[in-house]
Amino acid sequence: MITGTTSLVGLVGDPVSHSLSPIIHNAAFSEMGLNWCYLGIPCETENLEIVINGLRKVNCKGLNITIPHKQNASNYCNEISDLSKELKAINTLIPNKKNGWTGTNTDVEGFLAPLKKQDWTQKKAIILGCGGSARAILFGLKILRFQEINVISRNIKSIKKFLLDAKINPENIQKNHIEIKGYTDQDPNIKKILSNSDLIINTTPIGMQKGLKNENGPIEIPLKPEDWSSINKETTLYDLIYTPRPTPWLLWGKEKGLKTIDGLEMLIQQGAASLKLWSGVENIPIEIMRNAAKTHLKH
Ligand code: NAP
Repeated sequence: MITGTTSLVGLVGDPVSHSLSPIIHNAAFSEMGLNWCYLGIPCETENLEIVINGLRKVNCKGLNITIPHKQNASNYCNEISDLSKELKAINTLIPNKKNGWTGTNTDVEGFLAPLKKQDWTQKKAIILGCGGSARAILFGLKILRFQEINVISRNIKSIKKFLLDAKINPENIQKNHIEIKGYTDQDPNIKKILSNSDLIINTTPIGMQKGLKNENGPIEIPLKPEDWSSINKETTLYDLIYTPRPTPWLLWGKEKGLKTIDGLEMLIQQGAASLKLWSGVENIPIEIMRNAAKTHLKH
């Protein structure tokens, strides 16, 4: 029950109405006996400073940060974790003793969770898209010791910036024995690159938004249909999207007999990692969070 002593936790972004974070966190708070309440906090960019600073003044126990504020949120933190400095993105704020916020990032931990059971050393991965979450994905793939990582996206400028931000020379390059290259989605080698990959991660919104179109009509699956025609049966498809479940791309993959992972587990695991930091509790009720999300998605 919400009382006069209930503390606030929340998700700051624009939009936040679609988010499952309130569902999974409030289920966990209830199980853990925490008198906290998690809310979506819609916030436009021009109000970010006043919202983040204001929330620190009202005994807020923690915040998640989402689109489009993951990069700007660092301006309102008096401490930033090394990981967030490396990624140039923050998704979690923890109140600190210096009356400010410590910014960190739990997206990498969330992304890695469903991949940890397998040995990916020396394997080949593809990241589709090169926006905010692709930065955390690239970092995670380096931890897993992939040998080759190919980034495919629609815009050459964004690809170059992505590779530069990741401190990789855009001319495709050997770094710590990991080969990382960028391609536009029109590159004639795409089909061959797809057919040689062990893991393909979709970080574009394709499959989530209705009404996306290109010159060939509506697009529900990344890239061109013919690009996928030689896909290897051992390839794993990992879609960061979790609504609809399955996404059109993962449904296609399942029908081809490929292994598939959707974004729900990443969402749950990054949320659990944030809650661990806010509460100081090691044993987070992850199964309760997962069930709350699945139940909500069924309705
Ligand atoms: P973002 O920063 O906006 O990046 C999106 C990327 O996709 C950009 O490279 C963009 O290209 C590309 N893109 C956008 N629309 C496209 C289209 N119609 N065709 C081809 N490429 C397109 O977004 P983000 O923060 O990385 O998030 C991406 C997705 O991951 C979202 O669907 C989000 O919900 C999901 N996500 C899930 C989790 C989870 O926990 N499961 C966590 C984070 C994100 P340009 O550079 O040309 O704009």
